[in-house]
Amino acid sequence: MAEVRRLGLLGGMSWESSIEYERVINELVRERLGGVASADLLIRSFNFADIEALQDSGRWDEAGDLLAAAAAHLEAGGAEAVVICTNTMHRLADVVQAAVQVPVLHIADATAAALRAAGIEVVALLGTRYTMEQDFYVGRLRREHGLRVLVPDEPGRTLVHDVIYGELVRGIIDPASKQTYLDVIDDLVEQGAQGVIAGCTEIELLLAQSDLDVPLFPTARLHAEAAVAFALVEDA
Ligand code: GLU
Repeated sequence: MAEVRRLGLLGGMSWESSIEYERVINELVRERLGGVASADLLIRSFNFADIEALQDSGRWDEAGDLLAAAAAHLEAGGAEAVVICTNTMHRLADVVQAAVQVPVLHIADATAAALRAAGIEVVALLGTRYTMEQDFYVGRLRREHGLRVLVPDEPGRTLVHDVIYGELVRGIIDPASKQTYLDVIDDLVEQGAQGVIAGCTEIELLLAQSDLDVPLFPTARLHAEAAVAFALVEDA
């Protein structure tokens, strides 16, 4: 029987995207192993209202404590890697990693690998305000992966951020917001972006590759693929 390593998912941020992680990871394991094979998962799904309140009030230390404790529980339950199912909360990736011995599979690294494979050097990044503005994400793409990252201007960032918190994490998919995103992307493509990172795990629920003329990099999908590569030992 093929060995499938147990993955620990920190989810619920929001569940609209973490159920996609669960679906994609299971589908890929079945594709690879056939039959009735599926992934071996431990899932800790947070109440997103708690997480959003901590983000909004800048209480990142408390959020870090929550995620770190949850990751330790996943490890104690046999998880061989931890997957933080959100770009934004990778702000706390180092805190989570310090709480466990097993690897935390970083979403920006999975995304950067796909960008590199596609030969992209200049990329547009759409995500929450935290992801677009803080160093933990853009800095990692720049410093560790040599990418040039373009983010929307201030009004554009506000539009993108507000659609995430006002709609996507609430399960609302509005064609008008899709058009707003496409307009923001057009600007960044005019500035030289060769591709677009859907740098919030819910954005790929709104935008598909068929909506764009440049390659789209869906971070939840790419992260889920990296998790499966880890879980199936022959790929690791
Ligand atoms: N899922 C989103 C992300 O990938 C936003 C929700 C959150 O703040 O975690 O950044």
